[in-house]
Amino acid sequence: MSFLSIEHVIKDYEEYRALHGISLSIERGEFVCFLGPSGCGKTTLLNIVAGLHFPEQGKVCCLDEDITYLSPAKRKFGIVFQNYALFPNLTVADNITYGLRGKEWSKARRNERVDELLTLIGLPHIAFRYPVELSGGQQQRVALARAIANNPRLLLLDEPLSALDAKVRVTLRDELKVLQRKLGITVIMVTHDQEEAMALADRIVVMNEGRIEQVGTPESLYLKPSNRFVGEFIGSMNMLTIPQWAQGQTIGVRYEQVLVRPATEEVLVLPYTLVVRIVAWHLMGAFYRVELLMSDQSTQLYADIPYQHFLDQKLAEHSLVAITIAPESWCVFP
Ligand code: ADP
Ligand code: MG
Repeated sequence: MSFLSIEHVIKDYEEYRALHGISLSIERGEFVCFLGPSGCGKTTLLNIVAGLHFPEQGKVCCLDEDITYLSPAKRKFGIVFQNYALFPNLTVADNITYGLRGKEWSKARRNERVDELLTLIGLPHIAFRYPVELSGGQQQRVALARAIANNPRLLLLDEPLSALDAKVRVTLRDELKVLQRKLGITVIMVTHDQEEAMALADRIVVMNEGRIEQVGTPESLYLKPSNRFVGEFIGSMNMLTIPQWAQGQTIGVRYEQVLVRPATEEVLVLPYTLVVRIVAWHLMGAFYRVELLMSDQSTQLYADIPYQHFLDQKLAEHSLVAITIAPESWCVFP
């Protein structure tokens, strides 16, 4: 039995179908990312799991219980949204303890919990500050502390890092992963950022126009995308149709799988080797991205070549070179 199972969920906003029959299982302790372009239905699906929306059809089960129509509070899930959503009129401590009610939460126990959580998020001295006195990254840490204060059985995060500047985003991303591992908590995070999903997720659910395109580990999605959309959304891919290769079907090839060499006679007789022209190149940091044009004068492709290797080859702009693309690196899309 899975920890969470989403079964054939359909969601309409009046005439518009936002989710077309989504099914997905999530195991306890997993970090799952819903990844896809803006408007593909990620937030809608997360909100259905949270109990903030109800589906037209289908159901959501947690362990063996059907929770499709259960109130959000009774689900015992924690939620963090993109826009901090802390109460501006409450201190950090009051924000964190907002949901800690009932007899198991005496005042002393609540204060203790605030200290525990502030230590956990690396901000031990801010209990009596107000949200406006905190940076974006600090506010999001507090939102996270509030979401996990009552030991939720599932943590739901909707683009929690998107509003932060690039450096803070990466720091907090790494902290989030460490925290999740430490607590062993099950997490579903919505993001449109493939790098973020790759860095965090055990499994990524790639969504597009209200449907799931593919579910898999970051490695499997990168190496074996099941269709063009996934191939192009996760990393970059050349799409090539070469009559004598793969019976003329379109093949997807990662930029780093295109081997570029001088067009010598010995190289040109090798299988899966073509002559192309160098159009331009750009330094991308650790590698050069080289733009190439095939002999049909219309098919463009890219090759990523490690920095030193590129310099050693002494390639000249507009010159002809040989490329080899081994069939092991092809993704064939019918
Ligand atoms: P994402 O989070 O992937 O960006 P959403 O789940 O927010 O996408 O939205 C999916 C689609 O449903 C979008 O086309 C959006 O415009 C539409 N939508 C979302 N919420 C509503 C709403 N309350 N009323 C009408 N349409 C909505
Ligand atoms: Mg969204």
